Amino acid sequence: MSHIYRPARRLWLKTFLLILIAQIAGLSNQLLAAEQAPVAIVIHGGAGTIKRELMSAEIEADYRATLTMAVSAGHAILTAGGTSRDAVIAAINILEDSPLFNAGHGAVLNHEGDVELDASIMEGRTLNAGAVAALSRVKNPINLANAVLESSPHVMLAGAGAEIFAEQQGFEFVNNDYFKTERRQRQLERVLAVENGLASAEDPSDLIFGQYQFDEKKLGTVGAVAIDRFGDIAAGTSTGGMTNKRFGRIGDSPIIGAGTYADNSSCGISATGHGEYFIRAAVAHDICARVAYKGLSLQQAADEVVMDKLVSMEATGGVIGVDNEANVAFSFNSAGMYRASIDKRGEIQVMIFKQD
Ligand code: ASP
Repeated sequence: MSHIYRPARRLWLKTFLLILIAQIAGLSNQLLAAEQAPVAIVIHGGAGTIKRELMSAEIEADYRATLTMAVSAGHAILTAGGTSRDAVIAAINILEDSPLFNAGHGAVLNHEGDVELDASIMEGRTLNAGAVAALSRVKNPINLANAVLESSPHVMLAGAGAEIFAEQQGFEFVNNDYFKTERRQRQLERVLAVENGLASAEDPSDLIFGQYQFDEKKLGTVGAVAIDRFGDIAAGTSTGGMTNKRFGRIGDSPIIGAGTYADNSSCGISATGHGEYFIRAAVAHDICARVAYKGLSLQQAADEVVMDKLVSMEATGGVIGVDNEANVAFSFNSAGMYRASIDKRGEIQVMIFKQD
């Protein structure tokens, strides 16, 4: 009897082998596609009254060099096959450690003359997120936000509780003085003088301290958004908030949907600006929603929110973003925004002013 079935068995074996080969080919195609999927990264160092005439060539060069270092560090991780979340953290760590930006070392001071830091990070594939607020001793807040994402059932931790969690996670602690710089101390003094009617907010000569320009609007948060070889988007934001903030004020930066958002089905966004407005406008999520629901390009969606919605609310600031096809976008309604990107063609852009 068995000889009757032999051809059928052979056919079955052949079919099985063909399916196996097709599957292996499909899998390696997928791996190849993943390997070749374009990567891109975009970063910001805050938006505000950043004007060429108020900045020395030396300071401008410092800003450009640090932005270049941060965007390149993130990009190197992406091209080596690393994840967008790791790229975002690497870029933000460089900006947090630099005294130039309002995050980590060099962050702005609150009303009492101390530094309180907020940060958040989100992963577009899983919609997992981690956020921390009102930290005073954690050196790199974005890393703690990432630990919340990875190792906590919660999304947002604040103040003393967040620092207990940081201790349990083995984080490095620093004294609050580590974050403080003379520039920020002078900035607080000036804001308090304006508040008390002792100085004019309009006088541009008052905006200069040494070689630095005071950012009268008190903006200067840092952020990064990236897409990796696997097509996964991540976005992160880290800040000292706003100069002279009081009563445990927390801005938009650690609020998922306001200062930070990432969803592989649309885009990733990190914002910088007057947080009170950015929270109410749900800026980061609104941009991704316009991409998803209205079918707008990332640039169109970002411009609608930043140039129309925020302007009509009289809110200053800007955003950076990356969509799921690795297009990058910047949009800001202030005089300038520290920003840099390395796009899917590997081209680098480092810019500060509106007309750069
Ligand atoms: N968005 C930040 C906040 O309101 C400030 C900034 O972007 O500079 O805390």
